Amino acid sequence: MEIRVTQAKTNRTRPKDSDLGFGQVFTDHMFVMDYSEDIGWHDPRIEPYADLSISPSAMVLHYGQAIFEGLKAYKTLDKKICLFRARNNFERMNRSAKGMCIPRFDIDFVMDALKQLIRLEEKWIPETIGTSLYIRPTIIATDPFLGVRASFTYKFYIILSSVGAYYAEGLNPVKIWVSKDHVRAAKGGVGEFKTAGNYAASLIASEKAKKEGYAQVLWLDALERKYIEEVGAMNIFFLIDDELVTPNLTGTILPGITRYSVISLAKNWGMNISERKISIDEVFKAHEDGKLKEVFGSGTAAVISPVGEIKYGDKVISIGDGTPGETAMKFYNALTDIQYGKAEDKENWIEIID
Ligand SMILES: *Cc1c(COP(=O)(O)O)cnc(C)c1O
Repeated sequence: MEIRVTQAKTNRTRPKDSDLGFGQVFTDHMFVMDYSEDIGWHDPRIEPYADLSISPSAMVLHYGQAIFEGLKAYKTLDKKICLFRARNNFERMNRSAKGMCIPRFDIDFVMDALKQLIRLEEKWIPETIGTSLYIRPTIIATDPFLGVRASFTYKFYIILSSVGAYYAEGLNPVKIWVSKDHVRAAKGGVGEFKTAGNYAASLIASEKAKKEGYAQVLWLDALERKYIEEVGAMNIFFLIDDELVTPNLTGTILPGITRYSVISLAKNWGMNISERKISIDEVFKAHEDGKLKEVFGSGTAAVISPVGEIKYGDKVISIGDGTPGETAMKFYNALTDIQYGKAEDKENWIEIID
């Protein structure tokens, strides 16, 4: 398929790196393609970033048949543009598509389209360490129809956003709040897919956490309300004595690419790493016994997010001394050094865009 390119007639400039924030500054162009049952994915194009025109009856607006991804392009120290494990994101997106009855797409084609889009938008990639070009591929159901079924038509689009350093003032440990009343996902549901409704459903708990002065929600399993699943939209790791533990994937947890990266690094470094069930009681007990050394989240946006406090019911525990733990920092530095071309990419996670 030939990608049709329409140049934007704008002369916008990228804000200063220190003014970028997250997900607010969008670039001049976007990639779009459409799907219909008779011809499959078609009419791929790069066009000026603009509002989409869809019917108010478009199925996505009523029943939420939508999936998305989040990944980043970086400017390395020697000014090359690189993608971090991008193919893994599109593989996961195709798994989300299958789970949400959305037609799958050709990964090679979409990878090429993304690279072409990024080349065109090079000026929007900030260059300071910690900044990046956030990439948001999305698929939405567009049939104008109010019955509940899988749509016959879809729109796939990729938008790009220049984002600032997540930790402009260094990695600050966050306070997290265990949700007792609300759950994110149940077995047999769609927790392992990046689908829109999961995030809408998470808002009420995060509002409650915020009201209590906590930054993120720590989710427990839906059935027993006992086992830890994720933190906000990040995976979670606990360092108990010398064992690094992350919940195993059981269908309710989003299989994070940063999570896989942390696990591979830990294995390479000879750490004692387990993917297993871990209960909130075990975490509190480990803290009581002086064995809970560190807690941190992992995800594309923050890379690694140290946790400094956990509240569960009336109980509050502090982890560490208010500064990020050594292990969290080690993972953060190792991952960002690879992303910004400061360290050798032994795992082949980086793809340079020429
Ligand atoms: C995206 C996401 C993650 C992190 O995945 P990465 O691929 O590491 O960015 C974790 N949990 C949820 C719920 C997510 O949406």
